Amino acid sequence: MLLARLASSSSSPSPSLRSSARAGPRIQLLPLRASASRSRSRFASSSSSSSSSNSSNSNSSNSSSCCCCGGGNHKYHNHPSPSAAAPRSTSSPLTSTSPPKTRTNSKKSTYLSPFDMSSPPPPPAELSKYLAQTHDRLFDNNRAWAAAKATTDPGYFAKLSAGQSPEYLWIGCSDSRIPAEQIAGLEPGEAFIHRNIANLVCNTDLNVMSVINYAVRHLGVKHIIVCGHYGCGGVKAAMTPRDLGLLNPWLRNIRDVYRLHEEELDALAAADDDARYDRLVELNVEEQCRNIVKTAAVQQSYARNQYPIVHGWVFGFHDGLLKDLKIDFEAMLAKVQKIYNLAEA
Ligand SMILES: [Zn+2]
Repeated sequence: MLLARLASSSSSPSPSLRSSARAGPRIQLLPLRASASRSRSRFASSSSSSSSSNSSNSNSSNSSSCCCCGGGNHKYHNHPSPSAAAPRSTSSPLTSTSPPKTRTNSKKSTYLSPFDMSSPPPPPAELSKYLAQTHDRLFDNNRAWAAAKATTDPGYFAKLSAGQSPEYLWIGCSDSRIPAEQIAGLEPGEAFIHRNIANLVCNTDLNVMSVINYAVRHLGVKHIIVCGHYGCGGVKAAMTPRDLGLLNPWLRNIRDVYRLHEEELDALAAADDDARYDRLVELNVEEQCRNIVKTAAVQQSYARNQYPIVHGWVFGFHDGLLKDLKIDFEAMLAKVQKIYNLAEA
């Protein structure tokens, strides 16, 4: 029997369980990133290519590239010293505790959210300026990207306009650190993409079901990839023993995965709670693959064409590598079809 262990160590942010004498496993999560950076600025200084010079030290209190005050007035936002630079603090249960991104490219804007509720709001003018910059930089980036593509391949956009025939359907987590095309080296047109919190495939989710149906029946994708990631905030939130409002029914799917693999996960918790958390991420991916295999579109296409093949992968922030869970698709399909056989149209 397990009971949750509520601790607040920032050095061990993963969820953990502790034994209960009277109830079954009760999942409980550690507070996430308690108050590691309560004093952190609402703004990180910016050296946007479109709005400022090449000032490189965004953490310096003397920076002349501050997006809101030009370095001269930090009344409303203390720029953190380099030693104080820390992951953004938030109380959101969906906040990952994975290592923070390193933002060292002085030529790129380094914006942090001004919506840290732990510090006073900035003056409206500063906020408006920040919002305008964070909006406009995307158009700057887009124009640069389009120009580079057109220079490299003058026929690029004519080909892009002709239609799509992607080989892959990618179902991943909405986490901003896992851009599917970038980590897999794919170009526009090569992957049909669907992302949601914790890469779930629920048969009542009309969105993901429509994506799968279209990708399989109309685009004829050859591979369907469910890509989770270690340190998934959605998975971690599902292990939080509290009411998360609208997220409850969504995260319930992950709790169901835990229930299905309760014995294995509980055993891991006794020895290594991080291992238990990582394993739940993997098992969640595997269960979502199984949900895909249950669909009529996949079963019928595979019976007819021998594709698509369903794969389960997990991305690791620590090394940037994808791990193939090597799901035996044919064995999974055969087992699923004992009950969920929809191969006959
Ligand atoms: Zn995630």
